[in-house]
Amino acid sequence: GGLENVPSFELQEDPDFWNDHNVQVLVRTRPVSNSESVGAGFTRCVRQDSAHTITWLGQPETRFTFDHVAGESITQEDIFRVAGSPMVDNCLRGYNSCMFAYGQTGSGKTHTMLGDIDDLDCHPSHQRGVTPRIFEYLFATIQQEVILREQEHLRFVCKCSFLEIYNEHITDLLDPSSTNLHIREDAKTGVYVENLKEVEVKSVHDVVQLLIQGASNRRVAATNMNRESSRSHSVFACSVESKWESNSLTNIRFGRLNLVDLAGSERQKSSGAEGDRLKEAANINKSLSTLGLVIMILVDVANGKERHIPYRDSKLTFLLQDSLGGNSKTTIIATISPSNVNALETLSTLKFAQRAKFIRNSAHVNEDSSGDVNALRREIQQLKNELNILK
Ligand code: ADP
Ligand code: MG
Repeated sequence: GGLENVPSFELQEDPDFWNDHNVQVLVRTRPVSNSESVGAGFTRCVRQDSAHTITWLGQPETRFTFDHVAGESITQEDIFRVAGSPMVDNCLRGYNSCMFAYGQTGSGKTHTMLGDIDDLDCHPSHQRGVTPRIFEYLFATIQQEVILREQEHLRFVCKCSFLEIYNEHITDLLDPSSTNLHIREDAKTGVYVENLKEVEVKSVHDVVQLLIQGASNRRVAATNMNRESSRSHSVFACSVESKWESNSLTNIRFGRLNLVDLAGSERQKSSGAEGDRLKEAANINKSLSTLGLVIMILVDVANGKERHIPYRDSKLTFLLQDSLGGNSKTTIIATISPSNVNALETLSTLKFAQRAKFIRNSAHVNEDSSGDVNALRREIQQLKNELNILK
């Protein structure tokens, strides 16, 4: 226990980052805060044993193994290098990628995903989170590719959206007059949010403006409605479409990035909640508890059991169903506090992360060769056949 230096383990880049089940789980311990370190009684509730293992120091001591364990000395740059940059590479190759931050309030979810929003605008600080870094790398890579593949007339279109789920209501953070949006499912394109604003972005600056706008709308909504922003989930999404020509065919590839900052996972105290308040408390939990349930059932499915997965029971799981057991490469970052005061929440987060390791996704490249003459011929023939049947 105590505040003595803890051993640090480097966060290793993993050339085989995306294992065959397409899910990565990283646990990140935040540093001891100033308020925790003053006075007596502080002890640590976890000990890192290697770059992949961490031990919970309660009764009974329990050791956990993850794809990565990031200790207190791991920087924002390290997290980006190991978990953020592979998302961009994959997105450009046509894979959907998703990153979740899960953990109790104050454990470092927003720090990891975004960093301090006020730092982003003028001079990006080295404490900026994984989201701004992802877009720095995305646009730098896009610029290089466009030059390298000039012959193929390679073009990219990137569009972003930003939403919040609170109390099972979806609000558009880029257009806060749009509240209570609905999730729809399209047989071809999958799940989407109806009437959600999508903004084309051409630079890191464009993205940062959206992040600032969304964060500010989120703050205003929380203040106006007298609610805690720690109880809402935010999803920043970017779809990247690339088009190029080869052998007189136009090829299209499509990848989606989902960056999710979940509501605090701590158990809610329902004391004093009555009527609407009680209903609200139950609803606020709904997305998070359904997420836990979906993951639990996915573990059964991975073990060969046949089970119904209740994606549609909550907005969060419905919206992100592709990222959980579907067509996506998904990274879960579980953030924990090192303090004994939070020992039970930390244990609960470690157990959640442990279960998440067993999810199996089946990611595939989203592509389309729309100029394929033979494919068009086949399609025409098929339509003719269908017409004949109708006659
Ligand atoms: P959450 O979003 O999970 O509620 P925050 O990201 O807001 O938690 O973190 C709570 C506080 O701890 C913030 O002041 C944040 O800057 C700080 N913090 C969290 N993680 C780290 C870290 N890895 N390094 C330095 N400070 C951190
Ligand atoms: Mg937060």
